[in-house]
Amino acid sequence: MDADKKIVAEVYTSSEPMDNLKVLCDVYGSRFPGTPGDFGSVKWMVEKLRSYGIENAHYETYTIPGWVRGPAKLEVTSPIEKEFDCISLPHSLAGEIEADLVFLGDGPVDIYEKRKDEIDGNIVMVTSRNPLGMKRFLHRSEKYMRSVLAGAKGWIFMNHYPAYGPPTGGISPIIPAVGVSYEDGSFLARLLEREGKVKVRITTTDKNLEVETYNVVCDVPGASDDEEYVLAGSHYDGHDISQGAVDPASGTVTVMEIARLLNMVKDHLKRRVRLVCFGAEEIGLYGSYNYVAQHEDEMDALRFMLNLDSGGRSGKKGVILHGHPELEPFLEQAAKEMKAELPYYQRVSPYSDHWPFFLKSVPCGSGGDPEAIRTRTGRGYGHTRYDTVDKVELENLRLAAANYSRFLLRVANADEWPARRKPQEEIQAFIKEQGYDQTVALAEKVKEYVRTWPEIHPDTREWLERKSDW
Ligand SMILES: [Zn+2]
Repeated sequence: MDADKKIVAEVYTSSEPMDNLKVLCDVYGSRFPGTPGDFGSVKWMVEKLRSYGIENAHYETYTIPGWVRGPAKLEVTSPIEKEFDCISLPHSLAGEIEADLVFLGDGPVDIYEKRKDEIDGNIVMVTSRNPLGMKRFLHRSEKYMRSVLAGAKGWIFMNHYPAYGPPTGGISPIIPAVGVSYEDGSFLARLLEREGKVKVRITTTDKNLEVETYNVVCDVPGASDDEEYVLAGSHYDGHDISQGAVDPASGTVTVMEIARLLNMVKDHLKRRVRLVCFGAEEIGLYGSYNYVAQHEDEMDALRFMLNLDSGGRSGKKGVILHGHPELEPFLEQAAKEMKAELPYYQRVSPYSDHWPFFLKSVPCGSGGDPEAIRTRTGRGYGHTRYDTVDKVELENLRLAAANYSRFLLRVANADEWPARRKPQEEIQAFIKEQGYDQTVALAEKVKEYVRTWPEIHPDTREWLERKSDW
């Protein structure tokens, strides 16, 4: 209880996470892998954590398939001539393609095969919305892969949200791919409906290249020498067009604040809590995959991984458990002791940094609001240039830091930790049941297909030769 009081008093008499958020976003920009703000923010985070008295704060290095954005152009060349605002999607390659526009709406799974004849050799446009009736989230990369497989030579990703501009989001370097706003996409769709046939030209000038990036790692030591420990993390990289303030920086500064708070009460902490700010999540979870690979021998002793990606967004600060009903009584008990709201929900998705841990049988969960998670239909201003500091509120950062540090304290201190490590067979069965194995199989199928092309772009060749896309 002493520790709780110390934590809460400190949180509500300090503006530390908001101060840190402003520096991360306003000084270091997107922190996209390979940009000056990437390494700059990493060195700054390490210094900041050390200034909290966390001596072992350091960064770890790895290389990833990086990407540098170049100017992109989208033009209608017939029956009218008109240019539209667009941005390349990360890992798009440099190229130029002029062909007929094929609009597939929200791009449901079966439409690519059905309309293969139209798609073959042409430019596909799909929205960012999840198709009606689809139970799992149909990720952009799957819509892209299925388009490529049907013969698409160019790809347009249309925002389904009005007024947020063109969306971004990684794909694989196979065909030129750009994002357009809801308004421009709607114009194109209307033009196509009216004219029956519309020719468009996409010109992209991006570079795919290897870059070095980082994970920031530190420990708040526990009083006992038990080798079991707890880990909380959030990625720190945003998309290059954005400050990535809510996603992810509101989570990054929450993790830093948890480090500061737990370090202040470390005499009350029985087991070590490791805090990690992962790099390179947005373009492929590279930070967490590399972390897990570099710390493979520490996975068995990891009690729980709490992913705080976007952890300081609005809403309740609960825990989305990734398939661990046995932890529900623990959460209820913690909430009761804390006299705090700690709602929970069970759901697993593969699209953030808990996933590589999940695959290694580490019990895990993500910070979030079960109600919002249940009803959220898309990213809103996420992954657009409008994810800026002004979207984040200090009250949300405070509540996130208070709830999650008090929760982690309890996870680290529990004498009996009820979480069950899922056996590998169960994980594989789950992946199959959710259809995620199809995504992997799909990537393999695309690779096989692309290998038959008479001419292969050097960036695509590099991608084909890469061992694993994870
Ligand atoms: Zn994120």
